[in-house]
Amino acid sequence: MKLSNLLVFALFIFTTSSVAESNYDKLFFNKTMRVDCFHTGSKTQEIFSIDQIYEESEWPGSKINLIDTLNYGEYLVKVFDVATNNLIFSRGYSTIFNEWQTTDEAAPGVFITYHETIRLPMPKQKIQFTINRRDKQMMFKEIYSVTIDPENPTIVNKKSRKYDFKVTQVMNNGPSDKKVDVLIIGDGYTKNDIEKFRKDVKKVNDHMFSVSPFKERKKDFNVWTVEVVSADSGIDKPDANVYKNNILGTTYNYFSSPRYILTEENKTLRDIAAAVPYDFINILVNDNRYGGGGIYNLYTTTYTIPDAADKDWQIDYVYVHEFGHSFGGLGDEYYSSQISYTDFYTKGVEPWEPNVTAQTKREKLKWKHLVDADTPIPTTWEKAEFDSLESLRQKLDRLAPDYYQKREPLIQQTQNILKSTKYAGKVGAFEGAGYISEGLFRPQADCRMFTLSLADFDAVCRASISKMIDFYSK
Ligand SMILES: [Zn+2]
Repeated sequence: MKLSNLLVFALFIFTTSSVAESNYDKLFFNKTMRVDCFHTGSKTQEIFSIDQIYEESEWPGSKINLIDTLNYGEYLVKVFDVATNNLIFSRGYSTIFNEWQTTDEAAPGVFITYHETIRLPMPKQKIQFTINRRDKQMMFKEIYSVTIDPENPTIVNKKSRKYDFKVTQVMNNGPSDKKVDVLIIGDGYTKNDIEKFRKDVKKVNDHMFSVSPFKERKKDFNVWTVEVVSADSGIDKPDANVYKNNILGTTYNYFSSPRYILTEENKTLRDIAAAVPYDFINILVNDNRYGGGGIYNLYTTTYTIPDAADKDWQIDYVYVHEFGHSFGGLGDEYYSSQISYTDFYTKGVEPWEPNVTAQTKREKLKWKHLVDADTPIPTTWEKAEFDSLESLRQKLDRLAPDYYQKREPLIQQTQNILKSTKYAGKVGAFEGAGYISEGLFRPQADCRMFTLSLADFDAVCRASISKMIDFYSK
C-alpha cells in the first residue's frame, strides 16, 4: 500500500471508530444498566419477570461493538430504541436454567426458578428489552419483551449496592471499554485465607497467560480481584453433608455431579462484583475436591486445593478449560466422562458452539478453512482403543485413596494415542464430542476442551477465543 493510501486508510479507521463512539454517546451514558430477573420454567416452558433494575458504574464493554456478531449462546438479549425502533445493543449468553432443562431433574410437571442478571450500557431513552431463545433449528425467537424507561426513578434503582471488600487491579493494560476485564473473586476464604487467595489468583492467572491465544493477547486484558471474606473456610458439599457459611453460595453437587460447582446467590455475586468494571467473572473456591464449572457469559468456578500432592496442575487445567466455556463460548469436546445431561445436543442439529459439529461434509464444516486437502473427513483415529481405555478409567472410584495410582497408566496410554495418531496436530473432524460418542465431531485429536491435561486449545478454539478478544477490546 502506498503511503498516501495508507494515510487515507488510517483516517478512515479513525473516523469509523469515532463515529461509532459518538453513536454510543448519543444512545447511552457511560454507566451500566443491570437488569435482574427471575427465570422460571419447566423442561418445555419458560417465563421471565423483572426483579430489579439497577444503575451501576462505568460500562466496561466495548463502546463500538454494541451488536453481538458472534452468534454464540442459548439466549440473545436484544435492546431496541423505542423512538426509532433501531437495534442498539445485543448479547448472547447461556444460563443454568437451560442446562437444568437437559437433566433428569427437569421431570414432567417440575418447575424451577433461577435468578439472572443481564447487563447493558445505560440507555438515554426508553428501550424495548427483549429476550430471545434458540428454537430446535437454532434460530432465535423472541420469548420476552418489556419497555423500560431509564428516567423513571421507581424503575431504575440508583442506590449503590457495593460491598466494602478490598479491590485490586492485578493487571492493568488500559481503559475498560478497550480491554477484556476479568474479575477473579473468591468464595470460602476466611480473613485468614486471604493470603492464600492472592497466591491462588497469581497461580491461575499466570497459567492462563501462558496458554495460547491468551499468551499473545495479554495486553488486551485487565484483571481485577475483589477480596471477598467468608465466615467459613470451604464451600458446601451436600453429598458429604458439609455446609459452610460462604458468602457467594457456591456448592458442589450441581445436577447430581460431585464435581460440578455453581452458585444461585446471583444477587450477592453481582452486588459484590459491581465494585469493579468487569466483563467476565471467575470464582475461585477455597476447597479441595476436584471440580469447577463454566457457562457462556455467566461465570466460571474452579477449586483451588489439590486433592493429591502432585495434582496441582489440575487446578490450572480446570481454570482455563472453564474460561473456554464462559469466555470463548466453547463446548466440551469430551464424550466419555459421566455427566448429568441426557439430551444436551439435539440429534442432527448443528450446535452453536464453534468447536463442535454434526457435519461430515468437508465443504460444510464451520472450520473448513483450517482443514488441509489431504486430511480425510471424518478424520480417522484410534477411537475403539481410546474408548476401551476410557471405559476402564470411568469404572474407577474418584474418591478412593488409590484412584490416581490406578488412573495414571490409563491416562498415559490415552495420551499416547492422541499424540501418535496419524492426523495428530491437524484440523479435521474427529468423531466423539459434546458428551456423545457418535454423530458429533471435534476439530483436532486433542484440546484443552477434550482431555484432562494441560493440552493447548486446538486451532478452532484458539481462533474463536481470539475473535472474542477482538470483540471486547476494539
Ligand atoms: Zn467443560
